[in-house]
Amino acid sequence: MTERSLTGRVALITGANKGIGLEIARQLATAGATALIGARNSAAGEKAVEDLAADHLDARLIRIDVTDRSSIEQSASRIERDFGKLDILVNNAGIGIDNAPPSQLEMDLLRRTYETNFFGVFAVTKAMLPLLRKSDSARIVNMSSGLGSLTLNSDPGYQYAGAKLLAYNSSKSALNALTVQFAHELRDTPIKVNSADPGYVATDLNNHRGTRTVEQGARAAVKLATLPADGPTGGYFDEDGVVPW
Ligand code: NAP
Repeated sequence: MTERSLTGRVALITGANKGIGLEIARQLATAGATALIGARNSAAGEKAVEDLAADHLDARLIRIDVTDRSSIEQSASRIERDFGKLDILVNNAGIGIDNAPPSQLEMDLLRRTYETNFFGVFAVTKAMLPLLRKSDSARIVNMSSGLGSLTLNSDPGYQYAGAKLLAYNSSKSALNALTVQFAHELRDTPIKVNSADPGYVATDLNNHRGTRTVEQGARAAVKLATLPADGPTGGYFDEDGVVPW
């Protein structure tokens, strides 16, 4: 990505009012994109927009709750009206609310996790696809996690092998399946669909226990959001390269 190389590009980042999403928005806007700050809470989203605007970046608020179909449809209509297309969709909004080992997990918690981390991504992607098809080189990035890797999770030597969070981890494994299937369906279009693993990043999601900064955590997603025409699709990557499924 070269300086200002994204001028004229429109990027929607869900859950962009804070954490990794806000930093992805900042990096894409710094490269010249119009960053649509997806936020379910208008006040929090407005504050993020103001933060970026203070740095002379082009950021606008889109009120979108990924579990609320009408807010998704309204967001798509507004992007259609204001821009007529969408170049980058970063499905970043996610929650991690596990509080018990698999055998003691409440069904409701499992369902709520999937509502945001899987069904939310599906609903937003489906609604935005007509706009992404109007771009000459659209990119979809799904914020997964190393915890979504079945290969890593089944390895007792994995650094985070102890983090057996059934709801969170499996929702990200399902998200990876969504990446593979949408990439396959869209393989003859310019649209590329990939999963990003940001690493263990200090954010509200983990009470800031993560060891990486949001700047580091945003890199994999930004790279996938700005892939060249000969870049990969249907893959799973961290900042350093391929992550095993
Ligand atoms: P975060 O600081 O807690 O941010 C999560 C964002 O998602 C917030 O903006 C939150 O909005 C938003 N969100 C949650 N539910 C939503 C909904 N229904 N509709 C719209 N927005 C919603 O966490 P983060 O660490 O930056 O996480 C960003 C993504 O990275 C997530 O998908 C997460 O699973 C993934 N990830 C993080 C790590 C890590 O170590 N931090 C590692 C691997 C993957 P509110 O402010 O309104 O709650």
